[in-house]
Amino acid sequence: MITFYPGPSKVYPQVADYAAEAVRSGVVSLNHRSAGFMAIVRETIRLLHEKLAIPAHYHIAFVSSATECWEIVAQSLTAQASLHPYNGAFGKKWAEYAYRIKPPTSLSEADTLCIVQNETSNGTQVSMHALAEFRRDFSALIAVDAVSSMAGITFDWTLADVWFASVQKCFGLPAGLAVLVYSPAALRRAEEIGEDAHYNSLLFMHENFAKFQTPYTPNGLGIYCLMRVLEQVLPIADIDVQTKRRAANWYTFFEQDMAQSPFRLLINDPATRSHTVIAVEGPEVDINAVKAAAQQAGITLGNGYGDWKNTTFRIANFPAITDVEIEQLQAFLRSYKHDTQF
Ligand SMILES: *Cc1c(COP(=O)(O)O)cnc(C)c1O
Repeated sequence: MITFYPGPSKVYPQVADYAAEAVRSGVVSLNHRSAGFMAIVRETIRLLHEKLAIPAHYHIAFVSSATECWEIVAQSLTAQASLHPYNGAFGKKWAEYAYRIKPPTSLSEADTLCIVQNETSNGTQVSMHALAEFRRDFSALIAVDAVSSMAGITFDWTLADVWFASVQKCFGLPAGLAVLVYSPAALRRAEEIGEDAHYNSLLFMHENFAKFQTPYTPNGLGIYCLMRVLEQVLPIADIDVQTKRRAANWYTFFEQDMAQSPFRLLINDPATRSHTVIAVEGPEVDINAVKAAAQQAGITLGNGYGDWKNTTFRIANFPAITDVEIEQLQAFLRSYKHDTQF
């Protein structure tokens, strides 16, 4: 079975060995305040800086999910109100979670801008160019949900103060761990607000991570597997080239090879198309039929999400997927088009 689901998604096959290693070597039974465990946390953070080219002055912490990061931004980093310009289901959910914690009294006093870099629900993205414009026009804090793009494409990290991603998308790992990256300005904001009412208050997290520890017992298995995957992967500049080459190939495939089918790219404007999630639109019957036929052929396509649940399918373009698997899916779609009387 091969999967193109955009999260949880295909994990690197080597993760099976890394997980076995973690159990056999006793890593998962280490006390999380022991020197051995702290060395793993330290090395994982070092590798994140190195492999993802995260600036040395940006801090890194581990939490459980991107949803938790949405709450941390609201509780620990938003003084008055956050702004959420969004165009899809994840951006909408983030706004809803944030406004439950910090009800927006006056948006004109907004001090935190919340942007979903890659909207997994509809396959759009905010380019670094667009993010640079936000940075120029908005003087306060910028937080970026990069769940389905971090570790898949390069970022200009300095264009935002907070970046986060859970690892079940481009990192090619099982769910249950998220990476939270924050700038010195974000830390200063947290200090000004001084929020300390939660186990995951950013200040408390920061204090612990300064010692390579966590406030609570962390996902040691996940952190260990993340460290091993980071050792294995190419630097982000190389992954970026591969991701963008494959994305261009997918977009051409649908525009040309699939032109005589009921399937169309959901996003018309090439400038806003995601590099890591390809959304394909069609009549509901055809979407259901192609997903079922793909399943029969041993290939899982991603369901639609939110407003696009029934009228789209999605294809993950994540680094753990191989060129051979992509060729298999394209061959399937070509023969499906050929065999079906549309
Ligand atoms: C998957 C996803 C999330 C949710 O991640 P969790 O780890 O389930 O909290 C948030 N934002 C985006 C853009 C996503 O793709």
